[in-house]
This record gives sequence, C-alpha cells and structure tokens, in this order.
Amino acid sequence: MVEADIGARIVARCRSLGARPFSESSDILFRPWLSDAFMNAQAQVDGWMREAGMQTRQDAAGNLVGRLEGATSDAPAVVFGSHIDTVPNGGCFDGLLGVVLGISVVEALSRAGRRLPFAIEVIAFGDEEGSAFPVSMITSRAVAGIVDPADFDLSGPSGTVTQTMRARGLDSGALGEAARASTDVLAFVEAHIEQGPVLEALDRPVAAVQAIAAQRRGTVQIRGVAGHAGTLPMAMRQDALAAAAEAILLIERVACDLPEAADSGLVATVGRMDVGPGATNVVPDAVSFSLDVRAGDRRMRDEAVRQIESGFAAIAQRRRVSIECTWLQDLKGAACDPVLVSLMQEAALEAGGTGMTLVSGAGHDTMVMAQRWPSVMLFVRSPGGISHHPDETVLESDVAIAHRALLGFVDRFAQCLKVSP
Ligand SMILES: [Zn+2]
Repeated sequence: MVEADIGARIVARCRSLGARPFSESSDILFRPWLSDAFMNAQAQVDGWMREAGMQTRQDAAGNLVGRLEGATSDAPAVVFGSHIDTVPNGGCFDGLLGVVLGISVVEALSRAGRRLPFAIEVIAFGDEEGSAFPVSMITSRAVAGIVDPADFDLSGPSGTVTQTMRARGLDSGALGEAARASTDVLAFVEAHIEQGPVLEALDRPVAAVQAIAAQRRGTVQIRGVAGHAGTLPMAMRQDALAAAAEAILLIERVACDLPEAADSGLVATVGRMDVGPGATNVVPDAVSFSLDVRAGDRRMRDEAVRQIESGFAAIAQRRRVSIECTWLQDLKGAACDPVLVSLMQEAALEAGGTGMTLVSGAGHDTMVMAQRWPSVMLFVRSPGGISHHPDETVLESDVAIAHRALLGFVDRFAQCLKVSP
C-alpha cells in the first residue's frame, strides 16, 4: 500500500467508529468505558488486529491486547497503546488514532514478513477519559499494577465499577491479574493527537513528547468587606473582586514570565469564579476561583505556585483582604524516557516532522505506564488545535508521516537493543 493510502485508511478507520453502533448516541459521539458502543468498538478493533496478523485477548481489566510475536516466542514486547473511550460529544481521533496507528505498524511489519528481536503489542485501553465513572485510567493502572481497590465502589450511570464490570463478565476482584511483569514490556509508545495548536503554529505534522505535565489544582478564596456601592469611598474599600482581578493578572504574569516557562509547558488558568454577594450595588466581600497550574517539569510548576502564593500575600496586605489557597489535586505528571525520546525525535524528523519535543498539557495513559516502563509519546498535529469536540480532525498526510515515524522508531529501538542488549 502506498503511503498516502495508509494515511487515508487509518483516518477512515477512526471515522468509521464515529457513529452508532460505536456511539451511545445517534446525534453525538459518546463511547464511555464498558458501554454497548464501547464493546462494539472493541470488537471492531479486535477484527483489525487479527487482520494485521496479531493474536488477541481481553485481559482481566477488559483491555483488548493484540500481540505479534518476535523472532522468538514469549520475547518481551514494545507496547503501543491508547484508549478507545471518548468524552461526551467527542471527536473520532482522541485515543483511537493511537490504537489504529499501532495496528498499522504491525500490519506493515507482518506484510514485510519481518520478525523483530521483540514482540509488538497493541493495547486498546478503556477508561482514559473518566466519562463512565468519577475516576480515570483504571484500565492502564491495572496493566501497570497500581490500581486502588477503593475505586471499584465508585458509581457511574449503570452502577458501581464492580457492578458494571460484572455485567461484562469481568471481575473487579481479579483486576490485579491484568498487571504485567516488569520484564514483559521493553517500552510503551503512545501516539496521540496533540489536542492543542503548537504543531499547527510550527507547521509541522508530528513531534516527540518529552513529558506529560504535572498538574496542581485548587481553589482560591478571597475575603473582603461588603459595603454600599454608592456610599463607600474608593480608598476605604476592601473589595474582594478587585483583589481577585489583580490576583488573576498576577497568575498570568508568573506563567508568562518565569524563565524557560514556555519550554517547560508552564500554563496557569483560572476557569471558574463565584462572586458574593453578587449584587450590582454592593462591593463584593467574597470571591472564590479555581486555579490550574501545569508544567512538564514539576519543579517549574512548584516554583510558579510559590511565586503565585507570595504574590497573593502582597496583594492581600495592600488591599486589606485575606487570600487563601486550598490545593485539591496534585498530579505528578510523567517524564518520558530520555533515550526513547531521542529515538522518537530522530524518527519524527526523518519522517518529515520536527526534531523538537513538546510537553503534553493533557493527561494520557502514558502518565500511568511511565511509572513502570520507559515510555514515549508521538503527537500528531490537531488542525485548529481542536479536540474533545466533533470538529476534531487530522490530516491524512500527517497520519502517514506518523505511521512512518513509528516504524522508524521501532527500527531504531531494535538497533539500540543490538548495541546494548
Ligand atoms: Zn486521549
């Protein structure tokens, strides 16, 4: 198959799972973990894996695992993987593209009759998006052997995790059996749409990912003193909302101005705000807003948080209000393996991408897998930077380049093993 056709075929496969029976709704694409739509999609992907020459099985977490043996059977594997669930009203490529690209790599190797010194596996994970339950990545955590049994009692639309799994013939008590031995996996590789505008701005089709951002999320509460909007002189006010405005601009400035902020993918966002008492003629006395700080390098993220908090203290003192941060979530993020990143950089560059690396601001199954195995990601340009939206798309020519880059990565990895087994 010529390369342009490979890109078109991969895109067509992803699009073919964009509607019923692979979506729960006929109006939008929605494929939560373990739904009928999810099981239908899994069966279709299973067919593609077999067609590509893979043996397939469902593991104890319900993941679909396809395997192409290496030169010797039972050799450890290079594992490609991503998720096949979606958000409500999602796009056709988030997650699924990485799975279909993995299958296309296997297909190319099978067709060429090549046997590598390692096996190749493709895993279609289940619940990366967290659209079925208020928790995510149970299925990749099961493979990595880091599941929290407390998650099994969480409820979704069709019961708890345990009940929903049971309805599909899966036993949450046996989830641990999905865990892979350290020696089973040589490397984990996830191709994924970028879900942002950077590659488009650079006019590049693909790039290696150096890290997945560490995240810190919390709430900021500002307390001032309410007063009459007509009678309280400006100099005597303790206006919580004016203080919040200054605090938000401070957050933006720290995220823009910290040295090497852009290279480390540092971003800080206030996405929600409540103002009290919320009347036109009352000076506000209570404001709370959300704060989300992310960076590829955890130290960079923590330095940003430190500068934001000390800036808050100065604003609070000057404006005679109190500003308090409550941190609710601290996600470590994950660095990709430096050796794998440089192999992927070379492969991306040779295939027609860029040799530079990106930081992923969004979370991925790689965050989990990287806790156990050397891991790397390849980003594919997202036209318009659009994702988690029906207009999410990819260019066929970019996908063909991604396919070539992944094959190039496999070759380079095999070469590396020869030099240092
Ligand atoms: Zn995704």
